[in-house]
Amino acid sequence: MPSTTPARALIQARDLTKTYAMGDQTVHALRGVSLDIAEGEMVAIMGASGSGKSTLMNILGCLDQPSAGSYVLAGEPVQDMASDALASIRNRRIGFVFQQFNLLPRTSALENVELPMVYAGVPAAQRHQRARAALERVGLGQRTGHTPAELSGGQQQRVAIARALVNNPQLILADEPTGALDSQTSEDIMQLLTELNRQGMTVVLVTHEADIAAWARRTLVFKDGHIVEDTVREEASAAGPPQGARAPLGGSDPQSGGAWGP
Ligand code: ADP
Ligand code: MG
Repeated sequence: MPSTTPARALIQARDLTKTYAMGDQTVHALRGVSLDIAEGEMVAIMGASGSGKSTLMNILGCLDQPSAGSYVLAGEPVQDMASDALASIRNRRIGFVFQQFNLLPRTSALENVELPMVYAGVPAAQRHQRARAALERVGLGQRTGHTPAELSGGQQQRVAIARALVNNPQLILADEPTGALDSQTSEDIMQLLTELNRQGMTVVLVTHEADIAAWARRTLVFKDGHIVEDTVREEASAAGPPQGARAPLGGSDPQSGGAWGP
C-alpha cells in the first residue's frame, strides 16, 4: 500500500467492458476493468498479447469508447461524449506515444512536433517556438530540421515524445514505447518519461518487459480482459529505475545536451 495520502484521481474507470463483433463471434477485449490513477503517478501495464492492454489505452486516451462502464478523466465523464468533444479532450489533456513512433515521413522533426498545435489552432510563430522548446526538452534541439529517415529510432521516439508533450498534457499514454528500440535506447527513453513524470505529468505505459515496467512504481497486469495484479513498489522515491541508476536532468551526464545523450 502507498503510505502517502491519495492525490486527486486523474483517471477513474469503473467496470469498463469492450466487445468487438467479429462475424458471428464476439470478442471480449475488456471484461469489467475498474481503475483509479492519481495525478502524478507512473503506471506500467503488462500482460500477454491479446489481454486487452491496447484496448484499455485507447479508451483511456479517448480514442475509443467502452461498450459499457464509466470513465471520468480529470473530473469529466467522457464515456458518452460525442467524437468532437472527445477530440477536444484528447488535444487538451493527453499526449500519445506509440511503438512505431507514428511520425509523418519526409516532414521535419519541428513540423511533426507542431502538428498537435495546428489542430489546436495555435498561431504559427508560437507553434515554432513551442515545438523548438519541446525538442530541446527531449535533447533534440540540434535536430529540428531532420526528417524521420535522418534520425535513429531512439531520436524518432524522442520526436514523438516532444510531439506528445507540446500541448502540455496532464497525461502521457505510451503503448509499448520501447518495443521497437534496443535496450540502451529503451533506457534513455524510460529516463525521459521518468523525468517528465517527475515534472508532474501522469504517465501510463504498456510494456512486455519487466525491466521497463520496473521504472514505474505501480504495475498492473492484464489477463483475458481483467486486471489480475495491481502492485505498488515500496520505496522512498516516487519513480525511478530499479537499481537507482537514474541521473538527474542536466546532472552528472558529461554530454552538454543534458541527460539524454545523442
Ligand atoms: P493487447 O494490447 O493486450 O495485445 P488488445 O487490446 O489489442 O490486446 O486486444 C484484446 C483483444 O481484442 C484481442 O483478442 C484482439 O484480437 C481483440 N481486438 C482488439 N481490437 C479489435 C478490433 N478492432 N476488432 C476486433 N477485435 C479486436
Ligand atoms: Mg497492444
